[in-house]
Order: sequence, then structure tokens, then C-alpha cells
Amino acid sequence: MNTLKTTIGLEIHVQLKTKSKMFCRCDNSAEGKAPNTVVCPVCLGLPGALPVANKQAIEWTIKAGLAIDSQIPKIAKFDRKHYFYPDLPKGYQISQYDEPFCIGGAIEIGGQKIRFNRIHLEEDAGKLIHADGKSLVDLNRAGTPLMEMVTEPDITSPKTAGDFLRRLQKLVRDEVKVSDADMEKGHMRCDANISITDGERMSEIVEIKNLNSFRFVEKALALEEERLKSEYPNWPEKKGKVTRGYDSENNITYVQRTKEEAADYRYFPEPDLPPFDSSVFDLESLRLEIGQTEETVIDALVSKGIAETEAKVLARDKQKMLAFEALSKEIQSGNEPLLARIISQNYFGFTPREELTGYAKELAKLIEAFASNKISKPALANLANEIKSGKTFEDALEESGGVQVGGESEIGKWVSEVLEENPNEAAAYKNGKTQLLGFFVGAVMRKSRGRANPEIVNKLLKEYLEG
Ligand code: ZN
Ligand code: MN
Repeated sequence: MNTLKTTIGLEIHVQLKTKSKMFCRCDNSAEGKAPNTVVCPVCLGLPGALPVANKQAIEWTIKAGLAIDSQIPKIAKFDRKHYFYPDLPKGYQISQYDEPFCIGGAIEIGGQKIRFNRIHLEEDAGKLIHADGKSLVDLNRAGTPLMEMVTEPDITSPKTAGDFLRRLQKLVRDEVKVSDADMEKGHMRCDANISITDGERMSEIVEIKNLNSFRFVEKALALEEERLKSEYPNWPEKKGKVTRGYDSENNITYVQRTKEEAADYRYFPEPDLPPFDSSVFDLESLRLEIGQTEETVIDALVSKGIAETEAKVLARDKQKMLAFEALSKEIQSGNEPLLARIISQNYFGFTPREELTGYAKELAKLIEAFASNKISKPALANLANEIKSGKTFEDALEESGGVQVGGESEIGKWVSEVLEENPNEAAAYKNGKTQLLGFFVGAVMRKSRGRANPEIVNKLLKEYLEG
């Protein structure tokens, strides 16, 4: 049997959080509002109403394209995509067909390049609500700007599809900052295509519609991958595209309908909107507005001598990154790698909040003391907590009994006390239960209120117990 290869492509709709809707002045934040209260003749599709394009939505779409290195063509236009559905009163959706705002682009996931085919801009439809045997329509959402981002079929596993979407969510939410991108709330919706090939023959292409969580995308794709592989080599000769839905409660997929061909939509240029010339937009300043990508943040941290694993933790955790940035302004240069370790590995026992103003300076003194071995790691956590509660570093240190104790005579005293207090454990250790060492170290550290130098504690305990 030939090896079977999985091919996945995704189509993602991202709701833009502009103030007004795509082609009218209606408030774009319809969430939670009474049905059909955020509407006007344009988004209701009343005869004679004329659309006016939302400049912000176009700029944001271009910005998203710049963030993934798309080409921004000089001319783009809107087209009508015709279909009938009760949540689309015009009988067509204003979308983009052959001249979208962004072409191409890519995102890297785990060293693998996932290319984009395009990003286009379109309007959302309303919502149908089925209840008590009736179907009701709410058009508050009609006309919300949607970016449709289409990938090339470059994804080779369900897991990568999930990772890709998580990355894309960060990009549109935190870097380009154009959407809340909450999948559960429908700000980001995903359709996935999957097929299998043995190198010569190909299975049917299955499209799974309306997946509303990263986990569901991964699970539904894994189900289809398994199903298509199990049918091999009996794949149908005439391979069309089939649409399946995903039932997350029962973790199954089911047949929906056969997909319309593109021609069924009878696309034609939207006559009420002129084509757009992208040179009216200042692409350079749009590019500058994009927040740094995760990769550039990680590279910058690594160039300061910070370990890559720790740089990744910081780059992926906004709270920790803000704490790192605030504290690195206060500490001596050269101590950044240590600071990165303290924050990424949570030595404080808490992540300093972003508004560090009150205690950044005091925490910085604490870090310097730790850097020069004046205090131990457990003491660091104790002192940090005291500082967080409002004390200065000096007061906290004073109250804790002062700097790290490294003297063998003083630590030796604590060690003997601990051994006397725990004769059974000491005997067990001597009989070979050496994993009790950690227990003794902990007891000595507690007795010293975190001040004892752990290396000396270890050394003396071994001498006392094994000597
Ligand atoms: Zn409207
Ligand atoms: Mn679409």
C-alpha cells in the first residue's frame, strides 16, 4: 500500500470590529441587542438603498494582508454573489470575486509554511433563530464586515490546522488588532476542506462547515481523515466535493448537501460601488501600525541572551511580556536573561500585573539581590509577595531576617534540629530511602524562613545523614 497523504485547506471568516457596518452607518456592535433594532434601509436590503463602503474595514483588510505578506493589487472591486436565503434580504451578498484586496501571503507554523490564496472583504448575513416550530430572522448582524481568508491546501494534519488557527487568531486579534476573533462568539468561523491522496489517486474532497472552536476543527478533521483512509482504495472514481456538518455532542460528521459550483452564484461587479485604487491608502503607515509578530518578539529576546524556551513563554503570554518589559527598564543591563527566567518560570509565584508602577523599582532591587546571590530562590518568592503587598524591598528583607545565610555553622544548626525532630525519617534515609532528601531540604528551608543557601543545605544534609 502506498503511503497516504492528508491535504487540508481552510476558509476563515473574521468579523471586523469597526464602529459601523460594512456599507451603512449602523452600529456594528449588535451583540446582545434586541433583534432587528440595529438596521437601516441599506442593511435591510430595501429597494433603492445605496451602499457606501467603510474605509476603515478596507484599511484593516489591507493591514491584515500586509501582516501575512500578501500582495496588495492596485485595483480591487466588490462583486455581487447571488443566492437566496431568508437571512439575506437583498438576494445577494456583496463580496469580492476576481479582484480581492489581498492576494497570496503566508504564515509559518512549526517551520512549515502555510500559504494564503487571498483575503477578501464582504458583508455578513443576518441570523435565523428556530424556536417553537417557527423560524425568526434577526438582521442585526446583516452588513457586518467580514474578512474571508482562504489558505492554499498546505496543511498536512488536523493538529497543524488547529495550531494554524490559534496563530491566526493571535495575528488578527493582538497584532493587526482588527477583530476580537472569539470563535465561540462567531467572530471567527472556519470551514475546512480535507482530502487524501496516495500519490496517484485522490479521495473525494470533504468540506466541513461552520466549525466554531479550535478543538472542533481538529476533531472533525481527524474523523474525516480516518474515514477517508478507511475507505481506501475504494474511493469513488468521479470525485466531487461533499459537504458535511460536525456534531460536537456526539463527535460525528454527517452528510449535508452537495456544494454549489461557483457559477451558480452568478457573480458580477457590484454596480453601486466603484473599483478601489489601493494607492489612495498609505500602505507604509498601515504596515507600521501592525504590532510585532510573535517571531520577531522571540528573535529580539533571544538576541538579548534569553533562552529560546523562555523567550517563547514571554512572547506568547501578554501579561508576562508586559511584566518583563516594565521590569527590564528598572534592572541593570545584563540581567535580562535572569529576569526572563524569573518571569517565565514564575519564580515570584505570581505574574506582576501590567500596572507595575507601584512596585517595579522594589522588585528590581529584589532581582539584583537575587542576581548577586544575596538571597535564595524561596526567599525571592517570599520577598516578592511582601513587596506586592506594599512594602519596600529593604523593609521586606529586614522583616524576613535578612539576606541569604551561607554560613555552614548556622545552617548546620538548622540541619541538626531538623534531623532531631524527624528521627524516623532520618533512620529510613540511612536504610536506603534516599528520596527523603527533598523532604529534609524543605524542612531546613522552612526553618530558615527561606534564607538558607540551598546548595549548602544539600551538602550538609548529605554529610550528616551519610557521614
Ligand atoms: Zn444599516
Ligand atoms: Mn464568504
